[in-house]
Amino acid sequence: CREFNVVVLGAGGVGKSCLTAQFVHNEWIESYDPTIEDSYRTQISVDGRQVVLEILDTAGTEQFVAMRDLYMKTGHGFMLVFSISSRTSFDELQTLRDDIIRIRDDEKIPIVIVGNKADLEDQRAVDRAKAFALSQRWDAPYYEASARTRTNVDEAFTDLCRQMLRR
Ligand code: GDP
Ligand code: MG
Repeated sequence: CREFNVVVLGAGGVGKSCLTAQFVHNEWIESYDPTIEDSYRTQISVDGRQVVLEILDTAGTEQFVAMRDLYMKTGHGFMLVFSISSRTSFDELQTLRDDIIRIRDDEKIPIVIVGNKADLEDQRAVDRAKAFALSQRWDAPYYEASARTRTNVDEAFTDLCRQMLRR
């Protein structure tokens, strides 16, 4: 049974905690303390293989850059989350990926891009095409997801698992 560290990254308020809670506990939590950073252990089956995940739901509250560097060093896979209703949250992904690659010195690190809050189509601020262009540039899959409706939550985490299993 393989064990992987997954790090969920993205701007504040994009839904990292809600996505993690949906995936790990199958529950929708309307309001989460934005400053809580915690990790959750869960076991899933991917293509018939048992995988244990230690998922770090980050909150961007690290007091020291060294703490951030540490989880970037120990992560086996990264979920980079933005909200389709926030252009700035999309723009922030570039810096996050740059940091991961700088710290890891590895262009092929498993990454999945998640455009969350897909249920808020009427508030869309990031075109699907723009997100797909980023996905192609990074050679990382893109999922439009909703923690609220539990759309593509399992799919995004499972994709990341497949990438980590291939390494
Ligand atoms: P985090 O700061 O990235 O951990 O964001 P949270 O998970 O705490 O979510 C921030 C806010 O966005 C909360 O008010 C959630 O109810 C809301 N939210 C999270 N995911 C979704 C979603 O998929 N759809 C909608 N409509 N709201 C969401
Ligand atoms: Mg949170």
